[in-house]
Amino acid sequence: MSEKEKDPNSWFRNRFDFALLQSVLSDLSHFVALERLGPKVTERIAWRANIDEPKIALTFDDGPDPRFTPQLLKVLQEFEVRATFFLIGKHLEAHFDLAQEIRDRGHEVGNHTFTHPLLPRLEDGQIVEEIARTDDLLKSLDGAQPRFLRPPMGLFSKRVLDLIQASGYKTVVGDVYPRDSHLPGKDKIVMRVLRRVINGSIIILHDGGNSHNFDRSDTIAAVQKLIPKLRSRGFEFVTLSELLSD
Ligand SMILES: [Zn+2]
Repeated sequence: MSEKEKDPNSWFRNRFDFALLQSVLSDLSHFVALERLGPKVTERIAWRANIDEPKIALTFDDGPDPRFTPQLLKVLQEFEVRATFFLIGKHLEAHFDLAQEIRDRGHEVGNHTFTHPLLPRLEDGQIVEEIARTDDLLKSLDGAQPRFLRPPMGLFSKRVLDLIQASGYKTVVGDVYPRDSHLPGKDKIVMRVLRRVINGSIIILHDGGNSHNFDRSDTIAAVQKLIPKLRSRGFEFVTLSELLSD
């Protein structure tokens, strides 16, 4: 039996370095940074706040996650930073106490849909349902008044934006995304944020995930390094409601 027959994947593994490929694609997508072109595409979305004060918002997607959210909450508490968490409804339902803890510690919560689908591919009714199920859960957390929705993968269409608005939400994407979900390593996450952050920036990071084997350790380590570095540059951390108060 040849090598190839024993393990069909080994043929690919020997010829392609997938980690390298992923790293190159991550660098490339960070370099292109489509999110920075956002304001030219539509002003219906909050990409960042147009302010002169050095205020910025840390945002965390795809949680709550029982492995990584508690670690992140500890770091944020250590530095007395309040952030905004875009929760996936089904994760909120499965880990309700953790979502309540996020609220209890003074963080803001936002809607990241119920199952994290690509919204432009869904029918109107499905989109409304994805938003409403998560909205009900968010509102059952003490003191939560969800105002912001981040579409999964940042993907939208005019129809999606209309439905989000009709559901009572403001759509938020962000302007600084260090691609932490591509696992570039904590130093790169730190460097990419420091290179792009400006007054009013909305920084996109992840404390949860939608696959089975995600790891957010690097994101948490990066946040630990970033907070003091950003503070030493004069930045103040605020929640999205505070940043986008107009
Ligand atoms: Zn997401």
